[in-house]
Amino acid sequence: MPNEGAAAACLLVLALLLGACSGAPSASGERAQAPSHPLILLSLDGFHPDYLDRGLSPRLQALADDGVRARWLNPSFPSKTFPNHYTVVTGLRPDRHGIVDNTMLDPLLGRFALHDRDAVGDGRWWGGEPLWVSARRAGLRSATLFWPGSEAAIGGYRPDRWLPYDAALSMSDRVDRVLAWLALPPARRPHLVTLYLEAVDTTGHLYGPDSAEVDGALAAVDAALGRLLDGLAEIGLTGAVNLVIVSDHGMAQVDPARTLVLEDLVDPSLVEIVGLSEILSFNPRPGRTAEAESALLAEREGLTCHRRTETPPQWRFGSHPRVPAIVCLLEEGWRVRRRERFNPWQDRSGGNRGAHGYDPLSPSMRALFVAHGPGLASGLLVDPFDNVHVYPLLAALLGIAPAPGDGDPAVTAAMLR
Ligand code: AMP
Ligand code: ZN
Ligand code: ZN
Repeated sequence: MPNEGAAAACLLVLALLLGACSGAPSASGERAQAPSHPLILLSLDGFHPDYLDRGLSPRLQALADDGVRARWLNPSFPSKTFPNHYTVVTGLRPDRHGIVDNTMLDPLLGRFALHDRDAVGDGRWWGGEPLWVSARRAGLRSATLFWPGSEAAIGGYRPDRWLPYDAALSMSDRVDRVLAWLALPPARRPHLVTLYLEAVDTTGHLYGPDSAEVDGALAAVDAALGRLLDGLAEIGLTGAVNLVIVSDHGMAQVDPARTLVLEDLVDPSLVEIVGLSEILSFNPRPGRTAEAESALLAEREGLTCHRRTETPPQWRFGSHPRVPAIVCLLEEGWRVRRRERFNPWQDRSGGNRGAHGYDPLSPSMRALFVAHGPGLASGLLVDPFDNVHVYPLLAALLGIAPAPGDGDPAVTAAMLR
């Protein structure tokens, strides 16, 4: 009967449309077997693994002792926040996912900066497939309480629930929001939740990694973790959630006496400055390449510059079109200032005392990795590994196929229960 056939076809179209709207089945119509346990991915920005030894992180320490802990996690180059957060959720090195620094220049898209909401929310900046998109393709739900990339539609998808980054949202409000998501009935509860806390990084920059202020931030972040764990217990999820806790990089002490002045390195009229942090990056102005290179590539204390095609192989960096023509890296503890902003008296008495962005293999840049939950081994201490391998582990915990990338599931296989 034609009418019934038409009705059935309409229902099918409707079902497909609804599926697309709710993000349930992927284009292939496949819905992954929903994981039995939600996954929380927690980032403690700038948390050096040695901070655990200060005895100020009892809740985190308990998870590390009872679950899986890596001696440390190697950040990818550059050891900055956006490149590394996005590596953790894509399994791609920054040179491949395209978030090659916190500040970038793209011939088509223009400038990218962390505080530029339009850029941060523009999916064209974000390459690869972040975990929440992998989850969505498999029919799983995600909710992000901040994560670089989570505000943009990437491959057409955002997390099912997300919020614009708001540094002023308190740690307890963030935790409570995450708990509210996890308290939803199972049919609506997200399978993947991210949570981001920046207090340790912010304090580390201002006062240096060895400061009493960082100690205070460690205690505050541990209290937030405690609020999360206690809240999970209240909603009956103790032992029922997989929790993966990472940091993006560590923190080094800055020595104000080791300050380079930009104008002493290169005549600013010769170059377009793309980034000016621990990684300095430049594009020579048209016709000025030879002069810019001869100034910047010269040997000097505290800074080494490379043509983008000649960066050290261990950086695995230089092929993405957004990598500027000349990339320079400060030695640990050094910094650079523009002359107009450099007040030697003031800088010696105040200013930032901590920095990262230095060589990812430097011990000070080491990152944190702790994982705990029903899907994870217990009491396991593992050797250091690169943060590109975190994504395949997260995918395994969600029971979904990881998108191809730089990570190797074999590296973390022993962590899975
Ligand atoms: P960094 O300069 O590498 O130390 O970056 C850390 C800073 O990145 C934090 O203090 C925040 O201000 C900023 N940040 C972190 N996550 C986000 C986000 N999702 N959107 C915008 N800014 C962010
Ligand atoms: Zn960071
Ligand atoms: Zn930082």
